[in-house]
Amino acid sequence: METRYDFVIVGSGVSGGYLAGLLVKSGAKCLLLEAGKSLNPKSFPLSPMDLHTQSSWGGGVEFSRQGNLSLYRAKCLGGGSVVSQALVDRVDNEILEDWAEITEVEAFKPSNFSNYYDTVEAVLRPYEIPRDAWNRNAEIYLKGFEREEYYWKPVKRAAHDCQDSAKSSDCIVCLGGCPRDSKYNSLTRSILPAIQAGLEVQSEVEVQTFQEKQDHVEISARDKNGALTHYQTHHLVLAAGSFGTTEILLRSGLKKYLPALGTNVSCHPQFVSFGMFEEIVDAHRMAFSAVTSNDSKLRRLGVKMDSIGIDPVFVSMLLPGARKSLLKNLAHYRNLASISVSLRDESNGNLSLDRSGRLQFDKPTAPKDRHRIQQGLNLSRNFLLAAGAKSLLPKTQIFGLYLAGGCSLGTDLKTSVVSPQFKLHGSQRVSVTDASLFPSAPGTYPSLTIMATTQLAYEHLRKPV
Ligand SMILES: Cc1cc2nc3c(=O)[nH]c(=O)nc-3n(C[C@H](O)[C@H](O)[C@H](O)COP(=O)(O)OP(=O)(O)OC[C@H]3O[C@@H](n4cnc5c(N)ncnc54)[C@H](O)[C@@H]3O)c2cc1C
Repeated sequence: METRYDFVIVGSGVSGGYLAGLLVKSGAKCLLLEAGKSLNPKSFPLSPMDLHTQSSWGGGVEFSRQGNLSLYRAKCLGGGSVVSQALVDRVDNEILEDWAEITEVEAFKPSNFSNYYDTVEAVLRPYEIPRDAWNRNAEIYLKGFEREEYYWKPVKRAAHDCQDSAKSSDCIVCLGGCPRDSKYNSLTRSILPAIQAGLEVQSEVEVQTFQEKQDHVEISARDKNGALTHYQTHHLVLAAGSFGTTEILLRSGLKKYLPALGTNVSCHPQFVSFGMFEEIVDAHRMAFSAVTSNDSKLRRLGVKMDSIGIDPVFVSMLLPGARKSLLKNLAHYRNLASISVSLRDESNGNLSLDRSGRLQFDKPTAPKDRHRIQQGLNLSRNFLLAAGAKSLLPKTQIFGLYLAGGCSLGTDLKTSVVSPQFKLHGSQRVSVTDASLFPSAPGTYPSLTIMATTQLAYEHLRKPV
């Protein structure tokens, strides 16, 4: 049994890594446990294939039980903050109003929550991608949007000195962690400074279960060799992401006390529309993503569209067809323009353990979401054609990157798992701070909102337990 800590934090991603930094700064003795490897700018994988296999769960990709969705989730020190494109945005006020009502957390009201956004933006320092860093794909996106009379806006990124200008064309490795160390993420902004201030970190340790005792919590975890280790802490914080946190709670046998556990899981289903152009587009060069939709018509539909450059490995993972048809499209890879279409999913999924104890995600495509997928596909294809596409490629596999829910925040035990004080219902010593808390899909890049929610949770945690 390891020594007792004030806090053991499980999961080092957007939420857990940021929280560890805050707690250590407040003087707490903390241990951060992370299932993934500890990589750094010198060891981040440089090929797309390596990044999928080295820093993701499921060796790169996981699937929903129905096979209708592929899911990508980070597994490395810094979690999703390391592999993300560092795109940041605030969620719409209507969504925050909705969350304040569902959860009965007044702090979600837009006028209150903006203070939390301000605090985390001061850490991430988002900047708008300068026009000289936009690639041809972004210009094609704009042309399509303007011809069809839809509004757009430049994206913001939490990065600095990114060199995503015309001179640098190697940002294709961005999703594996930035070798230039340009992203402002949990690893560089919180975990590494916190280690200097006394944070203990154990990577390649996967937490299995925990048990809450009267004056402490006991945690059991497996190291990379499969050996079981036990830890004791005064307070446990679960920040293992929507899937990871839910899985630990399910394995710990809490479904019988927390009936809403594993419900209400959203993933922002996303696909890519490809158009073939006569000109060279090189969508994978320069700024990966530079512009996004900012249009009330699309928002009403629950659809968001981004100009997106994706690497050849991702293209071949997403496009249907094999061998001849795939190779035919890949042969003209440099002429492909791409628009990513993501949906604010309303039909929620469910996480549970199968008979052998493995996590499974059930999310059949509901008729409403199917209809919106079709509308998003038609619109994005119109934009590509309006911008001059000579032909369109088949619709890609639908994938989810923005996983949320499973441990919703709220007051009602039937519909929520975590109280407005961020503790599990009925618990004194176990809190949750990550995207699993979200009561519905955020409708945009989630990281900024996850950090702002973590900042709010920290206010409850730093009070003596
Ligand atoms: C390729 C990609 C690109 C993305 N781009 C963007 C973007 O540009 N902007 C944006 O806002 N969002 C982006 N996202 C989404 C964003 O990364 C996630 O929404 C966010 O990381 C979720 O934060 P979290 O703290 O809930 O969990 P995570 O950041 O996923 O952290 C959870 C951590 O817990 C660890 N863990 C899980 N289970 C256990 C266990 N049992 N024991 C120990 N550790 C465990 C995981 O390995 C992981 O490191 C992207 C995601 C992907 C996959």
